[in-house]
Amino acid sequence: MERQRLQKFMAHAGVASRRKCEELIAAGKVKVNGKVVTEMGYTVDPSVDRVEVAGLGIIVHEKKEYILLYKPAGVLSSASDDRGRKTVVDLIKNAKTRLYPVGRLDYDTEGLILLTNDGRLTNLLIHPRYKVDKTYRAVVQGIPGEDKLAALRNGIMLEDGPTYPARVKMLKQINGNGLVEITIHEGRNRQVRRMFDAIGHPVLKLKRTRFGFLELGNLQPGQYRALSAAEVAKLY
Ligand code: URA
Repeated sequence: MERQRLQKFMAHAGVASRRKCEELIAAGKVKVNGKVVTEMGYTVDPSVDRVEVAGLGIIVHEKKEYILLYKPAGVLSSASDDRGRKTVVDLIKNAKTRLYPVGRLDYDTEGLILLTNDGRLTNLLIHPRYKVDKTYRAVVQGIPGEDKLAALRNGIMLEDGPTYPARVKMLKQINGNGLVEITIHEGRNRQVRRMFDAIGHPVLKLKRTRFGFLELGNLQPGQYRALSAAEVAKLY
């Protein structure tokens, strides 16, 4: 996430004027993550660093925001784009801080994506060790037989190694194509699409419906809501 000069971050957080904050830093009154910082060019990452001001007894935090968005297809899931294309962050009106997506969805994939300025939580959720289940509904070309679905359930070899076993359910047939629900906890690039390619049933349409215990619910493409404090606590 974007780093900021320490005095600027402190001033924005309302500690004092930027000038006064520089004085506090020079006087050795400011700690970042428990260590005194006196260097003037020092930068912090507001999403994870903890800034304390001695004597004032304050801990400066950036206010954390947590948004659950229904990403439409045709929108990038990065924080910005050098070619000016629309990103998930552009869809959030009135965000008070700079938000970042938790993980990625392909440009053509729709569905649930979290956005936050909480770098610590982001790191937890995307770390493979935490094995957050992600559920997708895929319309795939043709009707995969039980043997093909079993291959996905057992784990399948992709060019970057075998996948973990997936939970897979055939939901219905639509005009000769299959609607399949698949749950994986890995987050490799284009993983679901590559898994279905590997069984010879390429994905025509892909939607993420769940992320951990969070669901899209009644949200429509482009709509979003804030997570409740209880939901955030449960994610940690
Ligand atoms: N797997 C994919 O192939 N694409 C996504 O966007 C997410 C998971």
